[in-house]
Amino acid sequence: MIIEDSAFVLRATKYSERDLIVELFIRGHGKISAIARSAKTSKRRFPGGLEPFSKMKVRLKVQANRPLATLEESDIRIGNIGIRDSFDKITVASYATELISILVQANEAADEIFVVFELFMSRLADQEDDTLPKLLLDFETALTRFSGFSPSLDACFKCEKDAQQFTKYRISRRGEGLICRACTEGEHYGIADKSTMSVFWTAYQDALIEYADLAQARRIIWASLGPVVDRDMKTRAQVEKLWSR
Ligand SMILES: [Zn+2]
Repeated sequence: MIIEDSAFVLRATKYSERDLIVELFIRGHGKISAIARSAKTSKRRFPGGLEPFSKMKVRLKVQANRPLATLEESDIRIGNIGIRDSFDKITVASYATELISILVQANEAADEIFVVFELFMSRLADQEDDTLPKLLLDFETALTRFSGFSPSLDACFKCEKDAQQFTKYRISRRGEGLICRACTEGEHYGIADKSTMSVFWTAYQDALIEYADLAQARRIIWASLGPVVDRDMKTRAQVEKLWSR
């Protein structure tokens, strides 16, 4: 079977002197690993190379009973220059790319995630470095929709009492989201600041958002997203380091 569609390289590893093995996220097909023969030397078949963060058109051959597909050609559609120019953006893009690699299954279309990732990468390339924490929060929040469940951020996840009536914002430690006082029995929860909850509620203006609120908001989202991540993500630790200085 020949596949020709849009893709992102999630990972590229050296296989031999000239060949690379690439993990691709392909529209309509999910994650597919492929060998790219002579990728390091063939500018004709792989113009622009096979580095992560670029959106490309790929052509690959998939054969039953073979663990690896063969990447025959690639052509970059949207390059990664806007990302490669900034250390912060590279750090954020590396984390987002690893997160996608963990969440997307092999040979199983995940087109909604593809659209979310595509939009995130193009915004990442265009926006200023100081907007990255909010951009990343929005990306992680979008991904919770595919991780099993999204946290309830407007109402108690148990009884649906409207959060506008809350005086304290209790957040379930298991990632379900807000919980009202009457529903706390047997629940483990932490308290979030109102300003943190406002990050989720209001049509935001970047300038008004404090980093501390964004960091707390990202921890709330991570309570939902983290359980599906089956490994220790160094790239996430690097993102945290970026913004804790
Ligand atoms: Zn309740």
